[in-house]
Amino acid sequence: SYRKGGYHAVRMGDPFAAGRYIAQRKLGWGQFSTVWLSYDTRSANYVALKIQKSAAQFAQAAVHEIELLSAIADGDPSNSKSVVRLIDHFKHTGPNGQHPCMVLEFLGDSLLRLIKYNRYKGLDLSKVREMCKCILTALDYLHRELGIIHTDLKPENVLLVSTINPAKDPVRSGLSPALERPEGNPNGAVTVNINEIKLKRKAKRALAKIASRRDSMGGVPSPKPERSLDGINLQCKIVDFGNACWADKQFAEEIQTRQYRAPEVILQSGYSYSADMWSFACIAVELATGEMLFTPKGGQGFSEDEVCHSYFSFVLFSLLGSSCLNDGASGEDASEGKVIHTPKPMLEVEGLKLIAIGGARSKDYFDRHGDLKRIRRLKFWPLDRLLVEKYKFSESDAREFSEFLCPLFDFAPEKRPTAQQCLQHPWMNRGNSSQKESVEENLDVGMSNLRINVAK
Ligand code: ADP
Ligand code: MG
Repeated sequence: SYRKGGYHAVRMGDPFAAGRYIAQRKLGWGQFSTVWLSYDTRSANYVALKIQKSAAQFAQAAVHEIELLSAIADGDPSNSKSVVRLIDHFKHTGPNGQHPCMVLEFLGDSLLRLIKYNRYKGLDLSKVREMCKCILTALDYLHRELGIIHTDLKPENVLLVSTINPAKDPVRSGLSPALERPEGNPNGAVTVNINEIKLKRKAKRALAKIASRRDSMGGVPSPKPERSLDGINLQCKIVDFGNACWADKQFAEEIQTRQYRAPEVILQSGYSYSADMWSFACIAVELATGEMLFTPKGGQGFSEDEVCHSYFSFVLFSLLGSSCLNDGASGEDASEGKVIHTPKPMLEVEGLKLIAIGGARSKDYFDRHGDLKRIRRLKFWPLDRLLVEKYKFSESDAREFSEFLCPLFDFAPEKRPTAQQCLQHPWMNRGNSSQKESVEENLDVGMSNLRINVAK
């Protein structure tokens, strides 16, 4: 990729924009770009420098991304909407061509790294709520105020806000040469936040050791300290607007990363803001359980092309409301959900019919009777049961969390709550009684957020 039209090779200390920015180390990369921690000599601050590949289609994509990021920055002068801030942009000419460059505020680790760091165990619901609040704030701003659909929400594209100023505190930021590994971090971002968490935990462990020594003299051993994120205030921001679009100027039919893809996108029946809400719900579950909710895989008789088919079936059998499935229930396996027959015809399921009618790809999934092709028996594992049985949630936590999330998994896109409605949901405001009144007042906010028309 480091050839004409491709990435620009960067070495530590390279100057950009007539010497204003000095490259420090690689933070990460994507299909289109490499991202470098850089020192801004004018503001004496660290920034993230995103250097795009130079070929025409990448340069074009950067122009589009800059347009969106500029609108985002203009509409949010106080930088409080949980979306990454564009600070500057310019072009840089190198041996591989002319590269559009974006200067972004420097953020920390991605939620994917946090999930990995937590050994795929899932975070406390109070932490999940903190992250949800940031993501929803960002989505409400993008959708309602700007008319932008992100189209690629996933844990990699949500970064923690770096709590440390690397210029002032290089050791704690993980940027000190002593802590730095020569190859940097294979998965991208500097482990700013995770370093902080590690240090706090270390301090806690030391305290616990002292306490247990004291206890053992008194005879009562204290339990091992929990691996929790207590006392660490986490905030995050949405990044990567490389695929984002104005809702009224869509250009791609196939959007989103498969695991976070909404059913109307799979069936290609048109999409709007509500496709982001589907992905948001998938992320919320993943944060709470540590595992992806939907993991479409090939194999087992499914070709590469049919992966989405198996995925779609999985979506269906995981989430269909019990009301439409009562008739077909047959057999039970507590550890793996209930095995059921599909309701006949499948397309009578409310919401599904709506998106299937206009879906350019509906024929790939449904036969002429409206039944799911090839799939006869499905396993049914409603979200609240999944949370209790597989992830050991308490009954009340599981009930409340799935009451918040299930409406977001509605097949009918326009029935999914908006980001604004989610922010007002009781689950989001648990432990915050002063908000109760506004919740009730605002429950009536209009439900329809679908801008496209499904063809009859
Ligand atoms: P692409 O459009 O090429 O996918 P991204 O915008 O997703 O590029 O950035 C690639 C990677 O660079 C991200 O996954 C992340 O690890 C890192 N990164 C991007 N923006 C920032 C930022 N503002 N601060 C810190 N790291 C960032
Ligand atoms: Mg990316």
